Amino acid sequence: ITSSFTRFIVFVPDRPCLRVHQRGVPLTRRALITGITGQDGSYLAEDLLEQGYEVWGLVRGQANPHVARLRKHIGDVQIITGDLLDQGSLISAVEQVQPDEVYNLGAISYVPMSWQQAELTAEVTGMGPLRVLEAIRVVSGISASRTTEPRAQIRFYQASSSEMFGQVRETPQSELTPFHPRSPYGVAKTYGHFITQNYRESYGMFAVSGILFNHESPRRGAEFVTRKVSLGVARIKLGLATELRLGNLDARRDWGFAGDYAKAMRMMLTTDRPEDYVIGTGVTRSVRELVELAFATVGLNWEDHVVLDSKYTRPAEVDLLCADPKKAREQLGWEPEVTFEELVAMMVESDLALLSFSNRPEEEPFSPDHW
Ligand code: NDP
Ligand code: GDP
Repeated sequence: ITSSFTRFIVFVPDRPCLRVHQRGVPLTRRALITGITGQDGSYLAEDLLEQGYEVWGLVRGQANPHVARLRKHIGDVQIITGDLLDQGSLISAVEQVQPDEVYNLGAISYVPMSWQQAELTAEVTGMGPLRVLEAIRVVSGISASRTTEPRAQIRFYQASSSEMFGQVRETPQSELTPFHPRSPYGVAKTYGHFITQNYRESYGMFAVSGILFNHESPRRGAEFVTRKVSLGVARIKLGLATELRLGNLDARRDWGFAGDYAKAMRMMLTTDRPEDYVIGTGVTRSVRELVELAFATVGLNWEDHVVLDSKYTRPAEVDLLCADPKKAREQLGWEPEVTFEELVAMMVESDLALLSFSNRPEEEPFSPDHW
């Protein structure tokens, strides 16, 4: 046991560090992140560590290969095992970590995969948030049939998605726009969104959803269109390929930088009132504009290299997404910092460097051919 006027830390075998709160204020906030090995998990962990948090990441599997990639970016995350498919593992994780904040970023997040594995998507992306909420409820000692005290002290963030808007009836989309999801992924996210709202209203939990529009970075999975394009451009520029095969070039998205969006997640959990927020830039671009800009960055003409391939069109498409982030700007003071042009340049430059200087082909991102 160490002590001073300002802090007391108690070490207990088999348990992480227990913190003694002074006048109800935790000495260090502790966060538990599901989906820590994904794009957003790494940016959120970095942001929280910078803010002085102790960060724990939930990782599935016995020897998850993505942990090494995470460690390349950030070393200070503590790892705990668990799976969004397994209720018991989530209760154990919350019990063991005793977090102040839980961020549920884990999901099957790729829309085309959600048609191929619709049931699994419902289980992981839809039921996953329910299981995390249940873990918080159980560990906080809240009875399912009691609606009054005790209240959970643990704050919960759900990674909701603009894909819930789907076939949009108004543009731009705000917190008040009705949902019409257009894929099993969108449907699963809509369940996660409403169950989060439901736990907030039923149990008085500080449980919020961030309705995030597409956000990208050099750490984005290679199957998503922005990264597929930045890798494709880099390969063509370096003479490693001659063409890039794509699907619907007319679809429009509101693309932002993942690092900016991770900050918004943290802000939502440190505000006074639990509310849902739309996070996006308010600017929409087509896939065609993305492609044109990415090729132009390295002095190439996209029309010489892009081949349309119906293999990449979807059973149902979301044609247009554009955020109205007014509420986040006014209530959280959140603003995106990286522009679309900066984002595309950042991704192309990063992939050029990756493919030019990596003499280890196993480090090259896996781009599944069937998507
Ligand atoms: P990624 O696909 O990069 O990461 C998904 C994460 O989920 C991975 O860490 C993966 O872990 C984990 N995961 C998958 N299945 C399970 C499971 N059964 N149990 C526990 N963890 C699991 O997604 P992003 O980082 O891009 O997105 C983060 C969240 O935000 C997701 O929920 C996504 O749907 C949502 N979102 C993302 C947007 C975007 O534009 N990026 C937009 C709106 C919402 P593993 O390493 O084990 O595979
Ligand atoms: P999503 O908005 O979560 O589905 O993110 P994606 O990056 O996967 O797709 C964004 C848009 O790009 C969708 O409208 C796709 O139909 C379109 N798109 C066009 N060609 C491709 C492609 O080859 N791969 C992917 N992933 N998307 C493509």
